[in-house]
Amino acid sequence: MTEEYDVVIVGGGLAGASLALALQPTGLKVVLVESQTPEAKWNSPAGDRALALALGSVEIFQELNVWPRAADKATAIRRIHVSDRGHFGKTRLEAADLDVPAFGYVMPARELEKAVAEACSSQGVEVICPAEVQGMTWQGNRVELTLARDTGPLSCRTRLVVAADGGQSKVRQWAGIGQQERDYGQVAVVTTVEAERPHEGTAYERFTASGPLALLPLGHRRAALIWTHDRRAAREIMALEAPAFEARLQQAFGWRLGRLRVVAPVRGFPLRLIRARRLFGERVAVVGNAAHQLHPVAGQGFNLGLRDVMTLAGLLRRHVRQGGDPGALILLERYAHARARDHDRVIGFSDRLIEWFTSPAPPLALARNLGLVALDHLPLAKRWFTRQAMGKAQRLGVPERQ
Ligand SMILES: Cc1cc2nc3c(=O)[nH]c(=O)nc-3n(C[C@H](O)[C@H](O)[C@H](O)COP(=O)(O)OP(=O)(O)OC[C@H]3O[C@@H](n4cnc5c(N)ncnc54)[C@H](O)[C@@H]3O)c2cc1C
Repeated sequence: MTEEYDVVIVGGGLAGASLALALQPTGLKVVLVESQTPEAKWNSPAGDRALALALGSVEIFQELNVWPRAADKATAIRRIHVSDRGHFGKTRLEAADLDVPAFGYVMPARELEKAVAEACSSQGVEVICPAEVQGMTWQGNRVELTLARDTGPLSCRTRLVVAADGGQSKVRQWAGIGQQERDYGQVAVVTTVEAERPHEGTAYERFTASGPLALLPLGHRRAALIWTHDRRAAREIMALEAPAFEARLQQAFGWRLGRLRVVAPVRGFPLRLIRARRLFGERVAVVGNAAHQLHPVAGQGFNLGLRDVMTLAGLLRRHVRQGGDPGALILLERYAHARARDHDRVIGFSDRLIEWFTSPAPPLALARNLGLVALDHLPLAKRWFTRQAMGKAQRLGVPERQ
């Protein structure tokens, strides 16, 4: 038997599951299809990564009723300290200067995924899991999807398919949507450290000879480390015993937080930029990492994805209330149009940040140091930088929720 839906969301990662939640009040018949069991996902190394959530994202999670389940696992970022190892430039940003309680919050991805999953289950989101979507065929004004499950194959038909199946999206491919790719040839080396001195809610971004290093506050004395290296250096540093790794880290970061001790496995995430050439195909919308997989240095990937989700949900809500077809071309075009500027801005920002801060060329090193000093003394520039980091600018562009 083939089940009929209005919307099938392929991929129950943070983007897909958040979209399912956002669509709950629309009355649309929606299903979320995810290939991995929650346990497999939460036990995977990817669950260890810490996510910096912009204030705009936290506001969205409040609206979606996720935040009350996640807030106690999150640490507020009250200060941002940006510096360049071996150079004079540095800047400090204070949330209090902007009259906000925090720039954003940091939490382990696994904890946020659990909170979103709990909200989905308590709000009655229909989920088919574990089930892998293996193909799609277009039949008039419907798309038919073939799903593989342990218990046997299944098919479902829908008016709109949402590709939320991550950077290597198959749905994007089946819909004939190409992608631009850029391999940075780098790996984000990720772990958690415990510091001798409290971080007092400070997120550190430090640009080192090997690549950018971020320490994000995670609990009272702990911090999530995201340290970018080229592939060879990453292999080498990841093979070190803890004391040698800690010595390298200490040398790169300095002693602002006293001695740093590694308290979690060290993992590597290869870094690539993948950007879909279009955000829609016939009866297909693309969101989250399926639309853009970014370098994590600016902590923007999921924040950007969540804004895709809320924009699509807002447009769908309005469109179907007026009796529209959820897979209509006009709606998908509106979605792509509404997201274009934010994507250009954030993807460009993350990409330029890498080029700028990984270059050892003296003019660039000088420019970035002058830039950091200027940032420290120019309230307007500082405000702009902070708004990018907070995801505030675009939150204003999210269509109103009804
Ligand atoms: C080290 C690191 C640090 C990061 N830090 C930050 C940060 O600080 N702030 C930030 O905003 N972002 C950050 N990011 C990015 C963020 O993690 C991602 O943007 C986000 O997790 C993507 O979510 P998603 O749901 O779009 O995709 P995914 O998490 O990739 O989810 C896709 C889902 O689809 C499922 N799936 C795939 N194919 C199929 C199929 N055929 N059928 C059924 N299911 C399928 C997969 O199992 C998966 O669960 C970081 C990333 C890394 C690697």
